[in-house]
Amino acid sequence: MKRLILAGGGHAHLHVLKSLARQPWPGVEVVLVSPWRRQIYSGMVPGWMAGHYRLEQCAAALAPLARAAGVRFVQDAVSGLDAWRRVVRTANSGDLAYDTLSLDIGAEVDCSCLAASGARLLSIRPLEHFVVGWERLIAAARARGTAAVAVVGGGAAGVELALAARYRLAGELGAAHVQVSLVAGGGLLPGHGQRIVDRASATLAEHAVDLLAGYAAGTPTGLLLDNGRTIAADCVIAATGVRPAAWLATSGLALADDGFLAVGSGQQSQSHDEVFAGGDVASRVDAPHAKSGVYAVRAGPVLAGNLQRQLQGLPPLAYQPQQRSLYLLATGPRQAIVSWGGLAAGGAWAWRWKDWIDRRFMSQYDSPPGHPQEERA
Ligand SMILES: Cc1cc2nc3c(=O)[nH]c(=O)nc-3n(C[C@H](O)[C@H](O)[C@H](O)COP(=O)(O)OP(=O)(O)OC[C@H]3O[C@@H](n4cnc5c(N)ncnc54)[C@H](O)[C@@H]3O)c2cc1C
Repeated sequence: MKRLILAGGGHAHLHVLKSLARQPWPGVEVVLVSPWRRQIYSGMVPGWMAGHYRLEQCAAALAPLARAAGVRFVQDAVSGLDAWRRVVRTANSGDLAYDTLSLDIGAEVDCSCLAASGARLLSIRPLEHFVVGWERLIAAARARGTAAVAVVGGGAAGVELALAARYRLAGELGAAHVQVSLVAGGGLLPGHGQRIVDRASATLAEHAVDLLAGYAAGTPTGLLLDNGRTIAADCVIAATGVRPAAWLATSGLALADDGFLAVGSGQQSQSHDEVFAGGDVASRVDAPHAKSGVYAVRAGPVLAGNLQRQLQGLPPLAYQPQQRSLYLLATGPRQAIVSWGGLAAGGAWAWRWKDWIDRRFMSQYDSPPGHPQEERA
């Protein structure tokens, strides 16, 4: 019996679990290692913050999915890896040996420059911590009657988070009692076309989100920008750049220049044939692309196919990631902005489109019959 370890319950591994549930792989023991019993879908988080979704609509329950797939679920975090000995280290469950390993553990948020904000700092990752922090923020804002939130990071997530925060807090407290800023040190929506940048700037202005240029450092009362301006904030939301888990550096696996796992055309490690990766943890050296959920989702079927091939002693099949991807940015109320190549559009219809896509994606991972929805928590 060979052992396949699925480390992390990210987007790509959700697909692998579904594939295994449809057709088990004979002679293979599959183990899923995840610190949480559910996978929160980031694409729906801004809609949840804004009050359009309940959290359970935005989460896939991992334990029932694993059970339906005949996969052993180990609730734990991978804390290290010895690629030469083929052993995964876990925080509490000891070492797990593998024949084949697949990593889909996502990325961490690098918020070291904001550390001085202390208890005011709320990182977007891990999402399990973020959702608790956001609910606390709402409760504290209701008690105080005012809220000042600063979001740091001008990428798609930062824009969506700032607009969702403004919409929800203004609904809770009244617009006059809410201050939301977005600090976009590296510019607004890098990598997107000028039309989308203009449209996003106009939307932020329309919703009274203060867009600030400059790099921010955390302070005990909020933020200090590199132009000397200070921003008082009850909460500093970090949507800054991503970085890999620190233990990847000592794993023995070949890493790309960005420190993430270097993989080739079949999502296979560049140094160890029995290791595969998909989603944000992987960097394609032959076809670099942005770290986004779109690519993580697309890697799912590739991993399912190539893991099975590896276990059968076959070489992986190549996969060419798409050049561009569609972004649908939620803007607070039930509206969204569409970014596709250089094109920009938006409105209520774009939200309905995004809502349809997101709900359809999540419906694939509804708890199987006989498994209560409570297991999502
Ligand atoms: C607010 C927000 C909105 C976004 N919206 C979009 C969008 O609309 N479109 C888009 O394309 N992208 C979007 N993104 C980016 C997107 O979230 C990521 O690119 C995507 O989540 C990457 O998927 P993944 O499977 O690699 O990792 P994740 O979704 O992060 O999943 C990783 C999983 O691994 C688990 N894990 C982590 N560490 C360990 C460990 N040590 N051991 C075991 N398991 C571990 C985690 O608990 C998690 O379940 C958004 C991001 C944010 C923050």
